[in-house]
Amino acid sequence: MGGALQAVRGMNDLLPGQLPLWQFVEQQARELFAAYGYQEFRVPLVEHAELFQRSIGEHTDIVEKEMYTFEDRGGDRLSLRPEATAGLVRAAIENGLLHNQKHRLWTAGPMFRHERPQQGRYRQFHQIDCEAFGYEGPDVDAEMILMSARLWRRLGIGGLRLRINSLGTPESRRMYRGRLVEYFGRHRTLLDADSLRRLEGNPLRILDSKNPALAEMIAGAPAITDHLDDGSRVHFERFQELLAGCGIAFTIDPRLVRGLDYYSRTVFEWTTTALGAQDAVCSGGRYDGLVAQLGGGATPAIGWALGVERLVSLMQATGIAAPAGPPGLYVVLAGDRAVREGLAVAERLRDALPGIVIEVNLGGGSFKSQLRRADRSQARLALIIGDDEVARRTAAIKSLRAEAAQQECAWEDLPARIGSLLRNEDGR
Ligand code: ATP
Ligand code: MG
Repeated sequence: MGGALQAVRGMNDLLPGQLPLWQFVEQQARELFAAYGYQEFRVPLVEHAELFQRSIGEHTDIVEKEMYTFEDRGGDRLSLRPEATAGLVRAAIENGLLHNQKHRLWTAGPMFRHERPQQGRYRQFHQIDCEAFGYEGPDVDAEMILMSARLWRRLGIGGLRLRINSLGTPESRRMYRGRLVEYFGRHRTLLDADSLRRLEGNPLRILDSKNPALAEMIAGAPAITDHLDDGSRVHFERFQELLAGCGIAFTIDPRLVRGLDYYSRTVFEWTTTALGAQDAVCSGGRYDGLVAQLGGGATPAIGWALGVERLVSLMQATGIAAPAGPPGLYVVLAGDRAVREGLAVAERLRDALPGIVIEVNLGGGSFKSQLRRADRSQARLALIIGDDEVARRTAAIKSLRAEAAQQECAWEDLPARIGSLLRNEDGR
């Protein structure tokens, strides 16, 4: 016999006790998107590997070393999605959504990257993702930020810091890249192995190096914000004005380059100081070239993704709890007749009071043991039906939270009585 099986490293179970905070985040995000006119979109977890190679880029960490890529039984090379944007763009093109149309979309779900598992970095993790297609101007860039800022407020999260940058157009970036290669070439002896590798394929990523030994040399590198084309510079300035006009604080960080090749112009990142090294909670940017690069018509686009694990950890670290669920009732049914009649009583109560949680005792048991279960449940009230109550067509109502006398109530009066008791205990 084999031993007990374990989950794949870096892929977490989410237990019922953890999920209220997740559901709170998901619910708030869902309401936020609806309020801004964003529509939900769902795409497969698996795509052709080529999609990610062509969009995220061959010389990125994700494609070079983090993708789960495999050959399926039919010989297709497939990848578990490491992020959502590429699949959304593929789907929008394939379904003909981008012919001179504008779309504001969101999606959420698991992403997969073969990284070294540690606090805040997992191999299956979850993102909430927001994308807008067909909007060229900086107004949508500002809307992206305003939405995320409002989500932090809805969740009670304070203290996140917003960094922004502009990566310009592919042309201006090519020129900047030349300057950078020249600069790093002059400091070649200082570069570590990672940076030397990036110098060939993706020199901008050196700016993103976490190696403290390189910090000083990197600080002296030419800044991309000094090498923007006129259009990108104006776009970036307008974007900043719009943020300032809405009271959003930000810092310009010319070293914010993001790890995916498809970005152009605006990029941004929300970071926290409360989680240690894995400090990016939400990041995104504009990718005006991606739709055309993947075979669609030229379509400006922008999006962001937030890491749900990191957001939830941050909320836990700062003492934010999910709001209490709806009030509940535990139904104690002692005796065969009580079970038979009681299930129907509970159903009628559910019809009349759809907003409350009604948990019926299952599997029988003595009054005493059922009441113990009621006490351990989340319920505020116990509804008790035994043979005597069935004979009188009544139920006893007992408070599980407050010192209050047990009261007897006719079945037909239960909805009104229970509704009012739960409302009162609510303080409403
Ligand atoms: P990092 O710099 O931390 O590696 P990233 O730039 O790779 O982040 P993105 O690809 O922009 O991250 O993904 C958006 C968000 O998803 C991140 O800001 C982060 O909150 C979250 N995220 C990314 N990778 C992971 C992971 N392996 N585990 C948990 N969350 C992650
Ligand atoms: Mg990463």
